Amino acid sequence: MKRNRKVKILATLGPASSDEQMIQKLHEAGADLFRINMSHASHDVMRTLVQRIRSVEARCGRPIGILGDLQGPKLRVGKFAEGKVDLKVGQTFTLDNKDEPGDNTRVYLPHPEILEAVKPGHRLLIDDGKLHLKAEKTDGKSIVTTVVAGTRISDRKGVSLPDTLLAVGVLTDKDRADLDAVLATGEFDWVALSFVQRPEDLAEVRKIARGRVGLMSKIEKPQALDRIDEIIELSDALMVARGDLGVEMPLESVPGLQKQLTRACRRAGKPVVVATQMLESMISAPVPTRAEVSDVATAVFEGADAVMLSAESASGEYPVEAVSTMASIASNVERDPHYSSIIYAQRTPPEATGADAISLAAHQIAETLRLSAIVCYTSSGTTGLRAARERPQVPIIALSPIVQTARRLSVVWGLHCVVTEDATDLDDMVNRACRIVASEGFGKPGERIIISAGVPLGTPGATNMLRIAYIGSDGMSGV
Ligand code: PGA
Ligand code: MN
Repeated sequence: MKRNRKVKILATLGPASSDEQMIQKLHEAGADLFRINMSHASHDVMRTLVQRIRSVEARCGRPIGILGDLQGPKLRVGKFAEGKVDLKVGQTFTLDNKDEPGDNTRVYLPHPEILEAVKPGHRLLIDDGKLHLKAEKTDGKSIVTTVVAGTRISDRKGVSLPDTLLAVGVLTDKDRADLDAVLATGEFDWVALSFVQRPEDLAEVRKIARGRVGLMSKIEKPQALDRIDEIIELSDALMVARGDLGVEMPLESVPGLQKQLTRACRRAGKPVVVATQMLESMISAPVPTRAEVSDVATAVFEGADAVMLSAESASGEYPVEAVSTMASIASNVERDPHYSSIIYAQRTPPEATGADAISLAAHQIAETLRLSAIVCYTSSGTTGLRAARERPQVPIIALSPIVQTARRLSVVWGLHCVVTEDATDLDDMVNRACRIVASEGFGKPGERIIISAGVPLGTPGATNMLRIAYIGSDGMSGV
């Protein structure tokens, strides 16, 4: 199955998309990898979904990535005697450590570390920012606030603290249990960490993950932006988590941040996913709004690696339509006459490494000679990432002997990954590349490709060779 687009589609699975037939339909409509949201999925549901994705993968013959998204320290207030209360702007309202039903003067906040961390002047944004409180007095056991805007608060609503650096680690007890269960399946390619604040958060998870999954940092806290370069350095990928980011930061700052984060990741050669509300209205309508189409298009023009669907594919009424709409927006944008110059304008020069120099050279040769494909042999995935960092218009075929590498690279811009054994010698390497390009539909006999590899073959991280080859009439090398 050959996709006619570079940007990848990450679709969240949920009640609307749990059966195997539906997962297959989403994959056929364009979903390259799937997200299982551990905020909602039980361990049993998670294991069932994983097994269904893997059987779709076996049937369709394309490597499919699986991302486990950990809930992270999402804070919530306790409950109210009446389920909800109405407040007045300007009144006093207290959050405290008493595990008792709330009323219109106070509510329980079941996070003692938060009661300690909030300082006078800090904002508390409840229910995605619908209620805005300002801390006036704190004593470690309670926070006395005034109501700045909004009036309604009800049971278990989320609390965002844009001004407070939380002294909590990125993993809650629930996250640890979820991470263990996710890793125990041996089938996940990525784990996403919610509310990353500091580079140390990643070090902690990396110790547990021990290379079994790639770590994707969800950027949704202003504190993460203060140390974003270190966070990118320690992450394997980033998600621009616009849902919570837009609560923690002024909404109007999100588009600029999306651009900054996308470019920083492109510079670093780390995959970046743009997420949340991309086709929100398709939760209940078969067509998107003009604004949503523009939003997806913007992410594609920026050269994001992947765009994500949340409730649209997880719990909406039109999951397949949401995926196919995203796919057709993407392929239309990528055919736009301005697309390649916009992508090119944002590129950054290669770093002084063999892999980057070779990726740049492969790109230039492929464009100068109008070759059909760039083929790169990549065992760890690094060469594939560096080839994609160049953002060439020519298709990139990433060949890997390791199925986990191919699956992990499913999130990366422009890579068409194929699992194949390591080549035995140079002739085999060239023949194998030509045969795969032909059989995957990227080139025909008489056309030429460029192959990058590391010699001696099978040495990881030693990309040092480029070879131009003709596809022969038998699909093998013609020269
Ligand atoms: P969530 O993350 O859907 O897990 O909250 C994405 C976001 O916040 O945008
Ligand atoms: Mn979030």
